[in-house]
Amino acid sequence: MRFSSLVDRLDAPGGAAWHIHHEARLAEARGEDVILLSVGDPDFDTPAPIVESAVAALRAGDTHYTPIAGRQELREAVARLQRRRGGVPTAAGDVMVVAGAQNGLFSAALCLLDPGDEVLVLEPIYATYEATLAAAGARVVRVAASPDDGFRPAVGALAGAVTPRTRAILLANPNNPSGVVMTEAEMAAVAAVARRHDLWVVADEVYESLVFAGAHRPFRALPGMAERTVKVGSAGKIFGLTGWKVGFVVAPPALMPVLSRAHQFLTFTTPPNLQSAVAFGLGKPESHFAAMRAGLQRSRDRLAGGLAARGFAVLPTAGTYFLNVDLAPLGVTDDAAFCRRLVVEHGVAAVPVSAFYAEEAVRSVVRFCFAKSDATLDAALERLEGVAGRAEATPAP
Ligand code: PMP
Repeated sequence: MRFSSLVDRLDAPGGAAWHIHHEARLAEARGEDVILLSVGDPDFDTPAPIVESAVAALRAGDTHYTPIAGRQELREAVARLQRRRGGVPTAAGDVMVVAGAQNGLFSAALCLLDPGDEVLVLEPIYATYEATLAAAGARVVRVAASPDDGFRPAVGALAGAVTPRTRAILLANPNNPSGVVMTEAEMAAVAAVARRHDLWVVADEVYESLVFAGAHRPFRALPGMAERTVKVGSAGKIFGLTGWKVGFVVAPPALMPVLSRAHQFLTFTTPPNLQSAVAFGLGKPESHFAAMRAGLQRSRDRLAGGLAARGFAVLPTAGTYFLNVDLAPLGVTDDAAFCRRLVVEHGVAAVPVSAFYAEEAVRSVVRFCFAKSDATLDAALERLEGVAGRAEATPAP
């Protein structure tokens, strides 16, 4: 029997980001002692009142389909948060509830892109983007970031990458894996290219609540951008309820009915009680989000300080759950081999950052998730003792 040609397009290199994680999960299932600092999944519990709200809704019989665009109370809660955060006028009608940000990215790709279209993506690029765009028949055009530039988005190279087939710019801000948060000037440079060439901007802002210094600026807030920006967000990252897969898209009015049409066959709706519980959580005052952020910032500093003390060159991270270490000073030239050794010999799972770059561009950076308990981070650090001193002995693949 044969498969569709789509399955080949879905086999994009980004998937390699999770190989080590999947192997580590299997090792864990076999009873091996592995600390998972690989995927962006916090190990703290979802806030109890949010869980209770979901349970109470179920008990009260809240088990049926919601409207396709999502429950009104959740759309209103997302709109309120957007207005509060970026000062961008946002109505509930501009919000569509989706089954996690990934589902939102896929819907946006299906609704905005034709086969053969090109999408400029600022590296480092999140692991699912290439396959997501390929599913719509579109092609990623990578705009390379340079280690020499602290992995900042190469916005100066965007205009030169535009061709007659360019249809959109896709960016993650804050960025996964780098933890870089774009400056106002970088965002303005992207906006200028989008306006000049009449492009959509898909702004993946799933980590918008996790910016440690200053406030996150939604891309839609830039002058003239609300009408051409599709913002993708996720409650998973806001409250540490990643498995619930409740996300949202904020889009210009003309796109909403089109997104609804796509969702009629993609997911129809997402679980009603989870939508209500997320709406309840989003209603919390800003101080609640600030406290969550402060806790994560402490975890970042704990892991960063511990890694630096053990001889690793830690790259700055301004947001997200992630920090990166540059292993080039230790002579490492194959981050995937290094990560494999880290799991097998030391029982710590991390992600090789080469998976987020064009082949061969970056081969010596590793990403750790710091959204873990102090005990977990300390245990991982203990296992990493002495590793930096021996890193150059990484065997060739
Ligand atoms: N975009 C980025 C940058 C992410 O890191 C993630 C999750 N790791 C997603 C999208 C997908 O989020 P969700 O789980 O809400 O689908």
